[in-house]
Amino acid sequence: MERTMFNPDMESMSEPDRKNLERSLLLEQIDYVYSQSPMYREKFSKAGINKDKIKDPRDLCLLPFTTKQELRESQKRQPPFGDFLAAPVEQVNRVHRTSGTTGSFIYTALTRQDLDLTHDCGARAFWAGGLRPHHRVIHCLNYCMWMGGYTDHANLEATGAAVIPFGVGNSKQLIQVIKDAGINAISSTPSYPKHLEKVLAAEFDIKPMDLGLELGLFGGEPGLENPVYRERMEATWGMKAQNANYGVSDVLCNFASVCPDNYKLHFLGQGGLLVQLIDPLTLEDIPITDGAVGEMVLTHLKKQAQPLVRYRTSDLMEILETGPCECGRTGFRFRIVGRADDMMHVKGINVFPNGIAMVLENMVPRVTGEFQVVLDHPSPYTSLNIKVEHGALVGPEEMEDLKLKIETAIKETLNFRGIVELVKPDSIERTRMGKARRVIRNY
Ligand SMILES: [Zn+2]
Repeated sequence: MERTMFNPDMESMSEPDRKNLERSLLLEQIDYVYSQSPMYREKFSKAGINKDKIKDPRDLCLLPFTTKQELRESQKRQPPFGDFLAAPVEQVNRVHRTSGTTGSFIYTALTRQDLDLTHDCGARAFWAGGLRPHHRVIHCLNYCMWMGGYTDHANLEATGAAVIPFGVGNSKQLIQVIKDAGINAISSTPSYPKHLEKVLAAEFDIKPMDLGLELGLFGGEPGLENPVYRERMEATWGMKAQNANYGVSDVLCNFASVCPDNYKLHFLGQGGLLVQLIDPLTLEDIPITDGAVGEMVLTHLKKQAQPLVRYRTSDLMEILETGPCECGRTGFRFRIVGRADDMMHVKGINVFPNGIAMVLENMVPRVTGEFQVVLDHPSPYTSLNIKVEHGALVGPEEMEDLKLKIETAIKETLNFRGIVELVKPDSIERTRMGKARRVIRNY
């Protein structure tokens, strides 16, 4: 019989078993954190909480949150790993540097045991996405210190597949290697194949389809949850395009993927991570039930090097389904609706850049898909000014009609008024990762 799960004991665990496991791991972890992590010992005692009060995940709301800013300050106080390092320094086995949007770094340390669990969860996700030992997968994420490079490479390898470390850049050589080395799967960001299409058209006389890729495993940025984008990629490349790599780099590299039966992210970090939701304004806990939306708060269950308790991710998560999936996996399904700090209030409607991206993606090639919201003052707003790149083939006489069509689509799909300014293709500045900054705040 085909093996459908990488770690069936964890991935198909019943709800009562999962709750029991979470409770027992959490109690051990809190004991460990309290005795080994100087930062948390001080935080807990300042908050006046005796750790013995924590008997269940629900009691975690008694403890203070942890923020990225605190981790940065901790590492400034005690470089490089901070005073939230809970394991002896000689047990640290791998170090990543992850960056926040403000450009200040966090050094993420992992022990051998942390790595084994990380690779196990990552392999669950890639296996759920369809990766098998017969695949030869080329890994095209940045290897320079990022989790997505070397650690995702090890996650891919843990499935038994053959992994070719490629990294980023030199797309011409990449295409040659895919052709020459019998590569049948690719791991990258979902926007990368679009870039490869341009290189193929300019430098090679072959179609994407003829490269022989069967499977794409994508992560690192949104896009694939839009069926129009996904179906176009699958039709162009002749491969299955799977959203198979979702994680929070300071916490756990990859803990969610879609499955063959259901294109929603499944939580796959059982035994390693406890997920909770809070209301970002009132900071109260929101139970994980179908349809719940809140900021994702994460607590490690079995972390040695840098265990985190009640870590605020700033990611807003919507719980889509909590019952078992057809594939047999029991982890809840979810989507990320945006960053808590990217949320814009327009006449009582919560607007996220991802929503605008989805509307525009459906209008390619009349637009490029790139846009930028320009804000002159803090929320709330009555309308939003949005710069949108028109497509290369749109003539001057079509501009007014295109502008109206975009404004109407935004109104009909997202229920707010967008005032669109059309700008030339490639005129919105891209970051080093090739993405446009979605929101510019001029205040
Ligand atoms: Zn499933």
